[in-house]
Amino acid sequence: MECKKEQNLKHCNCTYPCDKKGVCCDCIAYHLAMRELPACCFPDKVEKTYDRSFKAFAKAWNL
Ligand code: SF4
Repeated sequence: MECKKEQNLKHCNCTYPCDKKGVCCDCIAYHLAMRELPACCFPDKVEKTYDRSFKAFAKAWNL
C-alpha cells in the first residue's frame, strides 16, 4: 500500500513545522506515545496553541 501523504496533506490542519506532516501513521503514533492527539483532532484555534494533550482535547470539545 502506498503512502497517501499528498492526499492527507490536503486535510492536515497542523501549523507546527514537522517532518511527520501528512504521514498520519507516524503522526498519531508519535502523539499517542506522549499521551497526546494529533493536530487534526483539535479545532484550528486550539491547534495553534500546540497543546495536544487529552485534557486540551476534552476542553476544546466540552467533554
Ligand atoms: S500533529 Fe504533531 S506529529 Fe503530526 S504533523 Fe503536526 S506536529 Fe507533527
